[in-house]
Amino acid sequence: MKLYNTASKKLETFKPISDGIVKVYTCGPTVYSSPHIGNFASYIYWDLLVRTLIANGYKVNRVMNMTDVGHLVSDGDDGEDKLEKGARKENKTVWEVADYYINEFMDSFHALNLLEPEKICRATDYVEEVKAAVDAMTANGFTYETSDGIYFDVAKFPDYAKFAGLDLDKLKAGARVEFSDEKHGAADFAVWKFIKPGEKHAMRWDYLGRPGYPGWHIECSTIIDAELGEPIDIHTGGIDHIPVHHTNEIAQTYAISGKPLANYWLHCNFINIDGERIAKSTGNIYTLADLAERGFAPLDYKLWVLQGHYQGDRNFTFGGLDAAKNRRLNWRNRIALELQKPQKTNREFFKKVLEALDNNLNSAEAFAIIDNTAEISLDDWRDIDSLFGLGLIDSVQDISKEDKALISEREKARAAKDWAKSDDIRHELEIKGITIKDTPDGSIWQYLK
Ligand SMILES: [Zn+2]
Repeated sequence: MKLYNTASKKLETFKPISDGIVKVYTCGPTVYSSPHIGNFASYIYWDLLVRTLIANGYKVNRVMNMTDVGHLVSDGDDGEDKLEKGARKENKTVWEVADYYINEFMDSFHALNLLEPEKICRATDYVEEVKAAVDAMTANGFTYETSDGIYFDVAKFPDYAKFAGLDLDKLKAGARVEFSDEKHGAADFAVWKFIKPGEKHAMRWDYLGRPGYPGWHIECSTIIDAELGEPIDIHTGGIDHIPVHHTNEIAQTYAISGKPLANYWLHCNFINIDGERIAKSTGNIYTLADLAERGFAPLDYKLWVLQGHYQGDRNFTFGGLDAAKNRRLNWRNRIALELQKPQKTNREFFKKVLEALDNNLNSAEAFAIIDNTAEISLDDWRDIDSLFGLGLIDSVQDISKEDKALISEREKARAAKDWAKSDDIRHELEIKGITIKDTPDGSIWQYLK
């Protein structure tokens, strides 16, 4: 199995640390608003990663975090607390806001038929571990204190710029105007923030004798250390995580334990909508509920995402989604056809599909193989379903005895040249969403589009 590793910028043959078991960490959602469809693309790609590892015989142990500490608006250390803002707007406590969006996220996760990670960790459940991690970084000489928090001293980690290929001098020059504070370097970041007297933060924990809360990046290093143990095999995220969030995770883990964080780093690209970045200002933020309103199921969207590559520059359009929906319906009908035929399994076919995925998760090629293979048995469709989680087999049910009786009644009417009756029965079945195709071997049923 080959994967593109951001750390080496190369396609590498995957080798797990322990035979047969793969430790995976996925940076999870921040839970203060409804995710848009672009957010879900990354979870769809990593679902494919996990399913491909399983198809290759590995046991996967995956952990994902949920950022239920809002506190900062961006990768930086300043700004308004997003959870507090959401709570004010919705007249709820910050904890209620987090609970609400966690439930909503998991509902969507299941609607997309995504395999649940072995463990999902809420950041607020790991605050004691975060404090211990900050203690360790301080004991190892990687932090300093300012009036507003504990900061990571980037200069103490010589490899800081390596992972993302950063130019720290340039970063310093660009940031000079904004930074006249107590930070030693422009790239230094908070691992713990103090709450100043008068600041109304609902989420607060005592540490070093005063109230505060964890920095933006520390939960991932802490959760990985607590739940998986570094180094892990594969760490996943979006390309926007590379220069700050993942760079900081690597630095923190080194400062805590002296160990590397992960052997393979996978990053997915953004999804644009109608050629534009997803943004409030563009007005192109769609949720799964918005797609449902337009008649598209979550699994139509999942199939659309899997038609492209995780590293590719994707452009979402409703025309494209409609084509994906049609492809899913065609596949359903191919399964319906197989239900009505004697079966022969073709393992060579499935081997080719898996080979495509083993080549850096090339699902587009795997789909082309499916489209270009004339006959795929039910067993093979079952394996395709396990690989992509598209719920195809479950969406196809054999028709009822009554409907089957109607089909044979229609065949008899046709043999007797009773076209009126034959048409009546066809119409009756179409109302139930079933269409009849007459072939030289007799009538077959399919789902009406
Ligand atoms: Zn993370």
